Amino acid sequence: MEKELEGRNVNLPKLHGAHVPHRKNTAGCAPVRMPVPASVTIPMSMHIGAPAVPTVKVGETVKVGQLIAAPGGFVSSPVYASVSGKVKKIDDMLMSTGRFMKAVTIEADGEQQVLETLAPPDVTDLASFLNAVRDSGVVGLGGAGFPTAVKLSVKDLKQVEAVIINGAECEPYVTSDTRTMLDDADWIRQGIELLQKYMQVPRVIIGIENNKPQCVKTMSDMAAKLKNVEVKALPPLYPQGGEKVLIYNTTGRIVPEGKLPLDAGAIVINCTTLAAIAKYVATGMPLVEKVVTVDGSAVKEPRNVIAPIGASMQSLFDFCGGFREEPRKVLYGGPMMGIAVPNTEFPVMKNTNAILALGEKDAVLPEPTACIRCGRCVDACPLNLMPAAIEAAYNRRDVDKLRALHANLCMECGCCSFACPAKRMLVQTNKLAKGLIMADNAKKKAEAEEKAKKAREKAGKEAAVK
Ligand code: SF4
Ligand code: SF4
Repeated sequence: MEKELEGRNVNLPKLHGAHVPHRKNTAGCAPVRMPVPASVTIPMSMHIGAPAVPTVKVGETVKVGQLIAAPGGFVSSPVYASVSGKVKKIDDMLMSTGRFMKAVTIEADGEQQVLETLAPPDVTDLASFLNAVRDSGVVGLGGAGFPTAVKLSVKDLKQVEAVIINGAECEPYVTSDTRTMLDDADWIRQGIELLQKYMQVPRVIIGIENNKPQCVKTMSDMAAKLKNVEVKALPPLYPQGGEKVLIYNTTGRIVPEGKLPLDAGAIVINCTTLAAIAKYVATGMPLVEKVVTVDGSAVKEPRNVIAPIGASMQSLFDFCGGFREEPRKVLYGGPMMGIAVPNTEFPVMKNTNAILALGEKDAVLPEPTACIRCGRCVDACPLNLMPAAIEAAYNRRDVDKLRALHANLCMECGCCSFACPAKRMLVQTNKLAKGLIMADNAKKKAEAEEKAKKAREKAGKEAAVK
């Protein structure tokens, strides 16, 4: 590690995080394809950035792999039909974020006819590789949803000193990346070769928590066939898969505040994302399905399911035998960073790696008690933030103090809440605190613009009088 740090950030903090129970019940379950659902509802925003714009009309017949929505801007991603059938409606739907978003509903014909014109893209250089990544519809499949083509569009390739492949998969329950590493090692290899060939990536590091020895072995065997690729087995300390945490733990480098991984010489790409890019380049089939871990104490038969994008959560739970008890909480993603949804009709999206249904015992949170100033939340925070102080500042709505405490840096990993013996809702408060800072920033910006506008008007009037 010391050698890694030469000429870099030597003033490193100690490692922080939480020893969460892993509950990787489905790690040994190879993914099983679910039957084609009667219909799919595909949102136009399954990524960060501008929503995609529908290119199909109600009543139109579509085939698997057919474009149904074009990117709505540079930071956006195309969307493809995951089933063959007829477009039933294009309407607003409520997303898990609480916002409404346009979605295309396709009534499936059950035949899964593939678009005949699909063909591998012509990739010959960096530009055509990036075009292929964009056309694949692949976004950060580990959950982030950032369009991968944008992430890889680097102005100066010399900036990229290392690509870090994220195989940490540190969230409890979730095993879809584990299955990618075990079942799709060759696609990951092909993805690495594409990065090495077209982006001249000098060094590739695959970061995996060492509680997945089979993955470490499979990836090490694969890496041995390539040049400049190494596997780093990391301690199982949540959130090992957090971008900044992974960069630090694999290279010893710190992403400066307000900067991007590239400023630390790194690009982080999820292992399933990389495999999906390689599949598209080899086959021409864009991203239309996902491996989703279906688990939680309310689920009868937890397993990994290959689901068409847009399939309802309920159809996946049904495929897993339904519920053993009425779920008290349903989540997109794992229990630490997952998002709770009010019903099971929400669809599988590009960045859905797991859906959980938790029974009474796991879902009901204990009543918080008073802070005892033990400092465990501070000790647990991987970013060295002070969650108890942020909570106090938020309760006073003290935006300046929240800024001084760098509340905006919180990555909402939940380690502080997990560590807190008083069971205070720290991560929830942090989210609200970030919202308060954003709202204050927007207010200040609007005030500054109004002031500038008035100054311009005044200057204009004075000029007219002269
Ligand atoms: S303050 Fe934010 S980054 Fe730190 S532990 Fe809590 S949720 Fe994670
Ligand atoms: S861990 Fe909980 S009780 Fe301890 S200082 Fe933080 S908020 Fe207070």
